[in-house]
Amino acid sequence: MARTLYVASTNPGKLRDFALAAAAHGRLILPLPGLDAIEPAAEDGLTFEDNAREKALYYSWFLPGEIVLADDSGLEVDILKGAPGVRSARYAADSGFRAAATDDVNNNLFLLQQLAGVPDDQRGGRYHCVLAAAQDSTSLVTAHGTVEGRILSSPRGSGGFGYDPLFYLSALERTMAEMDDQAKWTLSHRGHAFRALLQHFT
Ligand code: IMP
Repeated sequence: MARTLYVASTNPGKLRDFALAAAAHGRLILPLPGLDAIEPAAEDGLTFEDNAREKALYYSWFLPGEIVLADDSGLEVDILKGAPGVRSARYAADSGFRAAATDDVNNNLFLLQQLAGVPDDQRGGRYHCVLAAAQDSTSLVTAHGTVEGRILSSPRGSGGFGYDPLFYLSALERTMAEMDDQAKWTLSHRGHAFRALLQHFT
């Protein structure tokens, strides 16, 4: 019987992706119990891998004997030298930019401002996800996944979360926010990282 994996995330978009993973792979993947009451882990690493590993180590302490997963992920835009990168969740806030009510909308508006006047063929980048697994404050494994895309000049679609309405996949002629769950899980950075990670827990 496959071990249950516990995900240390309160991000509804990520939890939704992991619920898809559970359905697609026949695994029991549950949110870490009591996560809301736990002081959030520090996220001050310089790389996705540092942050994912630190989060998994930290949260595994709260569920002895079980395998705890943590994800650190974000958007890397080439012409912005890899920004927003590990600061993806706080991209607008870091610069004091606030034009709308939610972080996601502010981040998207700020990204568009940074890319103003940049032609389509120079707006390439990728989503990058690192998943880390830990047990009893010991690191077990990390796995990476990426998906290449281009940043549009205006949002399209209402699905997904974060930068999805601006992240365009040329091959599918859709943004991540225009994809159904199955397509997103099949080709997303988180889907790739999860499948790589799962090979260690069969
Ligand atoms: P984290 O909680 O520090 O890993 O924050 C990741 C941030 O990167 C999110 O808040 C989003 O802004 C962005 N991000 C990561 N994965 C995705 C995704 O699948 N779609 C859209 N945005 C994402």
